[in-house]
Amino acid sequence: AKANGRDNIVHYDQELGEQLRETAQLQADLKDAVEQAAIVPYFQPIYDIRTGEIRAFEVLARWRHDTRGFVPPDLFIPLAEDLGLIDRLSETLLDESVRELLDWPTEAGLSFNISPTQFSNSDLARRIATILRRHRFPGRRLEIEITERAVLRDINQARNVIAELAAMGVKIALDDFGTGTSSLSTLTQLPISRIKIDRSFVTDIATASQNSKIVSGVLALAQSLSLNVTAEGIEHEEELIFLREHDCDCGQGYYLCRPVPASEILKLFDVPKAQ
Ligand code: C2E
Ligand code: CA
Ligand code: CA
Ligand code: CA
Repeated sequence: AKANGRDNIVHYDQELGEQLRETAQLQADLKDAVEQAAIVPYFQPIYDIRTGEIRAFEVLARWRHDTRGFVPPDLFIPLAEDLGLIDRLSETLLDESVRELLDWPTEAGLSFNISPTQFSNSDLARRIATILRRHRFPGRRLEIEITERAVLRDINQARNVIAELAAMGVKIALDDFGTGTSSLSTLTQLPISRIKIDRSFVTDIATASQNSKIVSGVLALAQSLSLNVTAEGIEHEEELIFLREHDCDCGQGYYLCRPVPASEILKLFDVPKAQ
């Protein structure tokens, strides 16, 4: 039993060593990718589901690794935060996204994800302002998506950042709504203009009675607080119909359009969707 135990430890050590090597390699690759601006924006349209028009494009970071293929942002974004690369990565993405959007025949805006660590940086609004100014891009065409985690870190700091952004015309959307712990107090304490109902509630809305009750409840709440609402993760026509019947204003999801690279955007303007 003793020998067996030692074998296990050796085995464990090797596995751990391999994992560490792999993580170190991924970190080094990520650093290169950020420096070379190899992480690019994809764009997922957010539709006004009453008119079918595109209201905004959510920017979603895509990293195509030489040997691993696409690395999911849920993996590399936290890594970039840990490595102190997130500000640089985010600035490159916003700059590139604004530059692209200005080439398209649309008045639609950008919806841009900001992670909690960035939100506690008192420089955030100034950094964003620099990019907007560089492109003469009006602040009112930009919406920043944050999660409750960003706000809960320091509510006073959050209030300051939001006020600075608001002074530039930039609006705030609360992402992944319903998955946090204090959604309601956040809504009453901060000037948030939109909530994004998390995909987990939108799934099977038309058939799963729990989800349909939650979503119609959230929509009623939003209406009484004069908040705009985007429903995420619409994958089926029935979900779209349900949302429209319950006066949800905006929606996004694979049923309407997947996230696409800038090179595929122009064809989206040919036919109105979500009608
Ligand atoms: P998120 O902000 O909640 O973004 C929505 C995610 O749902 C995206 O995943 C999108 O591709 C996916 N999605 C959209 N429609 C559907 C649908 O109908 N069905 C399903 N199953 N999924 C759908 P993605 O692109 O993998 O991004 C994952 C997360 O990574 C994002 O979640 C966001 O938290 C983070 N992220 C992505 N890009 C950035 C970025 O530039 N900065 C920061 N800070 N975070 C980012
Ligand atoms: Ca988002
Ligand atoms: Ca979300
Ligand atoms: Ca999410």
